[in-house]
Amino acid sequence: MLNYSVDADGIATVEFDYPGKSQNILNAASMGAYADAMQKALGDPAVRGIVVASAKKDFIAGGDLAELAGATDAAGFHAAISQTHKLMRAIELGGKPVAAALNGSALGGGLEVALGCHHRVAADNPKARFGFPEATLGLLPGAGGTQRVPRLTGMQAAAPLLMEGKRIKAAEAQKLGMIHAVVPAGEERQAARKWVLDALASGAKPLQPWDAKGFRIPGGGPNTPNGMQMLMAANAMLREKTYDNYPAPKHILSCVYEGLSTNLDTGLAIEARYFTNLVMSAVSKNMIRSLFFGMQEANKLASRPAGVQPQKYTKIGMLGAGMMGAGIAISTATAGIDIVLLDTTQEAADKGKDYARKQWNKQVQRGRMTAEAMDALLARIHPTASYSDLAGCELVVEAVFEKREIKAEVTKKAEAVIAPDAIFASNTSTLPITGLAEASVRPANFIGLHFFSPAEKMPLVEIIVGKATSDATLARSMDYVRAIGKTPIVVNDSRGFYTSRVFGTYVSEGMALLEEGVPPALIDKAGLIAGMPVGPLALADEVSIELVHKIAQQTRADLGKAYVERAADRVAAKMVAELGRLGRKSGAGFYDYPADGPKRLWPGLAETFPVRAQAPTLEEIIERLILVQSVETMRCLEEKVLRAPIDADIGAILGWGYPPFRGGPIGWLHTLGLPQAVATLDRLAAQHGPRFAAPQLLRDMAAKGERFYPA
Ligand code: NAD
Repeated sequence: MLNYSVDADGIATVEFDYPGKSQNILNAASMGAYADAMQKALGDPAVRGIVVASAKKDFIAGGDLAELAGATDAAGFHAAISQTHKLMRAIELGGKPVAAALNGSALGGGLEVALGCHHRVAADNPKARFGFPEATLGLLPGAGGTQRVPRLTGMQAAAPLLMEGKRIKAAEAQKLGMIHAVVPAGEERQAARKWVLDALASGAKPLQPWDAKGFRIPGGGPNTPNGMQMLMAANAMLREKTYDNYPAPKHILSCVYEGLSTNLDTGLAIEARYFTNLVMSAVSKNMIRSLFFGMQEANKLASRPAGVQPQKYTKIGMLGAGMMGAGIAISTATAGIDIVLLDTTQEAADKGKDYARKQWNKQVQRGRMTAEAMDALLARIHPTASYSDLAGCELVVEAVFEKREIKAEVTKKAEAVIAPDAIFASNTSTLPITGLAEASVRPANFIGLHFFSPAEKMPLVEIIVGKATSDATLARSMDYVRAIGKTPIVVNDSRGFYTSRVFGTYVSEGMALLEEGVPPALIDKAGLIAGMPVGPLALADEVSIELVHKIAQQTRADLGKAYVERAADRVAAKMVAELGRLGRKSGAGFYDYPADGPKRLWPGLAETFPVRAQAPTLEEIIERLILVQSVETMRCLEEKVLRAPIDADIGAILGWGYPPFRGGPIGWLHTLGLPQAVATLDRLAAQHGPRFAAPQLLRDMAAKGERFYPA
């Protein structure tokens, strides 16, 4: 766990060396070992000074998230963290000089361990990063970070580090006063040791700045005019951005305000309480489960079918060089894979490549990419109108117009050229994969790869397994998704798959509320306060009300008598067929889009959908907008469209910006507790109809006391 040695000069080296892991992490075991080692060194008269170091390639990667996620005993946790504070104060006030040698990254608790030393030397390692990712997982830097950082850097500079998880390089950390020296890589231990010897030679008692006489917070404390202004602005900005859905950044501000109004010891006691509160909160448990562990499993391809040789990709075919095709080409070329970009004419194909050039040019102009690197990427994109160029492609992705006949035609043409074992994937957003596979002569190799727009930026790919799709095709498709750095979820074929189907319910519920006479401004604001990135009516405008209308018509045609008309269908029909307001692309939807200013709600809405005198409360609207997604997700699980609850949660967060603090549509049911969720859905179904009816699977799980995730 830790290596301990003392040299001839009486300098002890305490070296973190977590067994069986490539990184050092902090948990009860490693902190216990650190405490023992430091107490031994401080108590041993033969030890005059201490160097804290790492045996791994980085210093310390941070806290053990599994341990934090599993913590349920608030009193015990608070006692343990208070113990850590006590240890770090004993080191600071122990009278022996202590220096940290930072050979690589020091993140979260790792950086806090370093900040608890008198002196910090970092290696000039271009890969090393320093920062606090805690807030991005619903936590705060709880080993003194909220107190020591602003006392070193000032509150203004500390804010993005503590509240947003910003990571910086050694040079910047030095400029901010968090690191004292940056030395050539490999010399950091020696430099730390030299500082310790110099400190001993000086005869002065080593002290942290806040323990020295006359200490002042750089830039002023919270009760100076400067500090007041900064904190008020930060508070207002935070509330505007998060609607108070995320307690972590709010608690961090409180730690800074309250803690810097007093001395360090009281500040640490304040931090320990806020930290314990966050660790015990459902929000941090949800965020750690979905954003960290869920994503990690998905990116490790935990659900990849076993026994299929990993596929390496060298050449991909892309049919359709439109918005999606060009975006997918960017992601593919960036991953070092050649891509044949095919469209109906050479000119159309060239246009797709031009789009890529434009995007990369922006990077070059911002200094994020060299012109040579851009040329190398562009050389990987081969625009063409000729199918013979697809020869040798291991995978072909189709993103032509959303028409069955056109998709069938390009499938046949491509399959005539590519190898028999090559994969053919469709990026359709609405057409069931099993049906599209009928055009294929090898449906086992046919699969859905549903990208999101803009494809070069959006991190999710929804992989759709058709009836005939083989496990090998699924496994090899997952390899492609990972090769281009995206996160896959796997779903079975069905109308709207998973993401479009559930995302659609949010938009539809907003339209239903409109028809009921709820003020449109209230509907969209409720969506934002619920944590969604965009209100449902604004979102309908973005995806286009016309599309909502078309999908409703198509579904009605496909299902015939079985189709149940929804309020959203009537609202879309009225907007599109009667009023010609198709959404943002036509400049007119639920909103107007004046050329000279921001969008604003269309005044005619008041007449078209008269506002009812008695509006439901904000809480009622939020409940509907959120639970309508959960209940549809449950149906997807029940119908086995979804294979695992965590896929639902990751897909929602990455696919349509579902608020991570709720965990995901399933994570939210888990947060409510299943019996409570069923009771709420029963009430909503009685009030608003069967779209809220709790699926049997949920009832059964609630009745049996089962859960989706550990308590
Ligand atoms: P688009 O209109 O921007 O691009 C389609 C391209 O396909 C055009 O360049 C067109 O010339 C080309 N094309 C048409 N027929 C062709 C043929 N026979 N052979 C070769 N090329 C042909 O459309 P888009 O937004 O890129 O969407 C493409 C597909 O991706 C559709 O199936 C759509 O449903 C799906 N999709 C779109 C989004 C989105 O947000 N736009 C998201 C996910 C999936």
